Amino acid sequence: MRIRIMGSGAAEGWPAVFCRCASCRRARELGGKNVRSRSGALIDDDLKIDLPPDTYMQALRDGLELGRVRHILITHTHHDHFFPGELSMYVKPFAHDPEELHVWGDQWVVEAIRNRVGSWNAEERLHELKAFEPVEIEGTRVLPLKAAHFPERGCFNYVIERGGKTLLYGMDSAWFPEESWEAQRSFRFDVVILDCTHGLRPESSVHGGAETLLRTKARMLEEGTATEQTLFVANHFSHNARVTHEELVEFFGPHGFEVAYDGMVIEV
Ligand SMILES: [Zn+2]
Ligand SMILES: [Zn+2]
Ligand SMILES: [Zn+2]
Repeated sequence: MRIRIMGSGAAEGWPAVFCRCASCRRARELGGKNVRSRSGALIDDDLKIDLPPDTYMQALRDGLELGRVRHILITHTHHDHFFPGELSMYVKPFAHDPEELHVWGDQWVVEAIRNRVGSWNAEERLHELKAFEPVEIEGTRVLPLKAAHFPERGCFNYVIERGGKTLLYGMDSAWFPEESWEAQRSFRFDVVILDCTHGLRPESSVHGGAETLLRTKARMLEEGTATEQTLFVANHFSHNARVTHEELVEFFGPHGFEVAYDGMVIEV
C-alpha cells in the first residue's frame, strides 16, 4: 500500500488563505514542508480520501493523474475535505475517458452531490456509508468509524485494508469516541494517521493535539491494535499551532511519530 499525503493542513491552509499572522509569515518565508494545503490523501493511484479545494493543484504538484482515481472516500462535509463542485468536471465535455469514478460518504455527502452537482446523474456511482458498517470496494475493505468531530453532522475516520496492510485514517477527530475504540479492537494497524490540528498545544473537543496523539498511541499499543512496527503519523496542522515543521519533527521523533507534509509518500 502506498499512501500519499496530498495536503497536510487544516481548514485554512498554512499559510492561511487570508492570514498575515507571524506563523503564516514564517511559513511563507520558509516554504518547503512548512507550506500545508488542505487535507487529503491518495492510496496507490486509485483510491482518494477526501476532495479538498486544493486537490487539482496538489495533483499537478505531485505529477498525478486524477483520471486514474476509481473511488473517493469522503470523511465529512467540511469544506477543507469536500469541495463537491469539482465533481462537475468529471463528465463530458470536461473529462474524456477517466476511470469509472465512485464516491462514498455519509448521508450529507450523498445529499450534497445529488443537490449541488447537477451533472452527477449516476446513482449507482454514489454510495452512502453508515458508521460501523464495513464495505468491500474492489477487494479493499473499508470500515467507517465515528470521529469526535463536527457534532452537527458527524465525520468518519476510516479503517482501510488492502493487500494485507491496514491503515487507520483519523481525519478529523479529537480523542476517539469509546464506540470507535471498541470497533477497532480486532485490527492490527500498519499505519495510523492522526489529526494534530493543534500541534503541540492542548486538544479541543473536535481536534487533536500532540498529547492526544501520544495517548492514542499508548492505548493502541496496550490494546494490541498497534505494535512497535506500526507507523504513526501526525497530520492536519493549523497555523494556530505556531510551530515549524522542524519543531514538530523534533518533538514527535522521540515519541515514534512521523510528521506529515504535503507530498509525503508512505510505503508499507
Ligand atoms: Zn479538516
Ligand atoms: Zn496565520
Ligand atoms: Zn473538519
